[in-house]
Amino acid sequence: MTFEHGPEREFDLVVGADGLHSRVRELVFGPQNRFEKYLALKVAAFEVEGYRPRDELIYVMYTEVRQQVARFAMRGDRTMFLFTFADAEADSTDTKTIRGQKALLRERFGASGWECPQILDALKSCNDLYFDRVSQIRMDAEDGLWTRGRVALIGDAAFCVSLLAGQGSALAMAPLMSLLVNFTKPMVITLRLSSDIRRSSRRLLRQSRKLHSAWPASLRRNRECRWSYVIR
Ligand SMILES: Cc1cc2nc3c(=O)[nH]c(=O)nc-3n(C[C@H](O)[C@H](O)[C@H](O)COP(=O)(O)OP(=O)(O)OC[C@H]3O[C@@H](n4cnc5c(N)ncnc54)[C@H](O)[C@@H]3O)c2cc1C
Repeated sequence: MTFEHGPEREFDLVVGADGLHSRVRELVFGPQNRFEKYLALKVAAFEVEGYRPRDELIYVMYTEVRQQVARFAMRGDRTMFLFTFADAEADSTDTKTIRGQKALLRERFGASGWECPQILDALKSCNDLYFDRVSQIRMDAEDGLWTRGRVALIGDAAFCVSLLAGQGSALAMAPLMSLLVNFTKPMVITLRLSSDIRRSSRRLLRQSRKLHSAWPASLRRNRECRWSYVIR
C-alpha cells in the first residue's frame, strides 16, 4: 500500500472501515456513484452548550412539508440539532463550504416556526457542522460481497443503510464480529467471512434498506399527509 504521508507497506489484509464516502471502496471496487443510492434528502447536525429548553431523554421533532428539525439533550448540558430536508440535487457547489451550508439552512428554515429562529441563531457561532447527503450503499453479490482479493469493506463503507435508519452502528458491528472471530483462521477463511453471519446480516440489511427507503419518502412529499397530522 502507498500512503500520502509515509513509506509504502505490505499487509496481509486491508479492511476499509472508512464510512459512506469510503476511499478504499473507490480505489478497489469502483466509483461511489456505482453503489450509492441518494435518497433525495440532505442532513445537517451540530451541537451547542447550554441551549434552553432542554428535555432529558426525549427526541423533539418539528416537521414541515419536505423538512424537519429535531433536538435532543446530550451529556454535559449539550444539545444536538438535526436538520433533514428534501433536495433533489445530490451535489451543489454552493454547499461545499460551511458558509454555503449555513446559508442554505437559513434559506430553508428561516421562515419556519417553533424554535427554528433560536436554533438558527445558535448555528451562527458553530464551527463544526456536519452536512451531507442521505444515501445508502448497495453492493450486491456481483460486487464480491464486500471483499476483493485481500481487501474487505465493513460498516457504512460496505452497506450504509443511511443515518436515518438509526442502526448503522449495530449493523457495522455484526460483520466486524465475524471478521474478528475468523481472524486466527487461514487468510482465505478470514477474507470470505463467516457465510452464516454474512447471510443473516444481508437479510437484516435488505429489510432495513426497504424500511429506510420508504419512510424518508414522507419527507419528500410536497403536501401534508395524514400521518403528519396524526404524529403532531
Ligand atoms: C448525524 C448522525 C446520526 C446518526 N445516528 C445514529 C444512531 O442513532 N444510531 C446508529 O446506529 N447509527 C447512527 N448513525 C449512523 C452511524 O453513525 C454509522 O452507521 C456508523 O458510524 C458507521 O460506522 P463506520 O465505522 O462504518 O463508519 P464511520 O463511523 O463513518 O467511520 C469512518 C471513519 O473513517 C474515517 N475516514 C474516512 N476516510 C478516511 C481516509 N481517507 N483516511 C483516514 N480515515 C478516513 C472517518 O474520519 C471516520 O472516522 C448516525 C449518523 C449520523 C451522521
